[in-house]
Amino acid sequence: MNLIIIGPPGSGKGTQGKLIAERYRIPQISTGDILREAVRNGSALGVKAKASMIRGELVPDEVVVGIIEDRLTQRDCGKGFLLDGFPRTVAQADALESMLGKRGMVIDHVINIEIEVEELIGRLRGRRTCRRCGAMYHFTFNPPKKEGICDQCGGSLYQRDDDKEETIRSRLRVYARQTGPVIQYYASEGLVRSINGFGCIDDIFHRIVEVIENGEAYAKRGSY
Ligand code: AMP
Repeated sequence: MNLIIIGPPGSGKGTQGKLIAERYRIPQISTGDILREAVRNGSALGVKAKASMIRGELVPDEVVVGIIEDRLTQRDCGKGFLLDGFPRTVAQADALESMLGKRGMVIDHVINIEIEVEELIGRLRGRRTCRRCGAMYHFTFNPPKKEGICDQCGGSLYQRDDDKEETIRSRLRVYARQTGPVIQYYASEGLVRSINGFGCIDDIFHRIVEVIENGEAYAKRGSY
């Protein structure tokens, strides 16, 4: 099964992506995670991406398309994959379509997580990320057991530069302008499954599973 999960920053797409990947045993391919790791390692890719990421802007299409092209040829993508945070522009969606077309593959569902802007800002402002393993916390909704320390690996927690309020607003503007048309692109192919992203992690996950496993009923009922 080949899936895309799409949603504004702070919509929980990374968290839901992880649960989906575990349930269906497919790799979660997050361009944001790949780019952050490259920035941490100071690799050539990281150097190219860093300035755009700090400003909350998108990294150039050819950079992320190159990442996905490499990643999709790896063996673990044979049974399917979940793209998280890609495509973010229509040019990326076109590039993906031609990559998949060459391999005789198609996208089965585009999971579109919908949520209000003010809710997103509150979530992102309180978000803290582990420097070592990338696990995410929220100082009100999902605090670590010990302040500032990751429950999973003991790494220290920090606020991502792009989770500061000014950058959040810019990321949301970029999302509306550049990723909005991507949703239209897939809607015209009948692939978009819109999910209400408000509520607890488990509830949202159940909505997603229902849509994936019960697609026909979804088509009759409309949006979740
Ligand atoms: P995310 O964790 O998905 O919110 O991504 C964090 C940042 O990485 C974004 O604000 C962009 O700067 C960059 N990024 C991630 N995915 C893409 C993409 N598909 N195209 C361009 N930039 C991306």
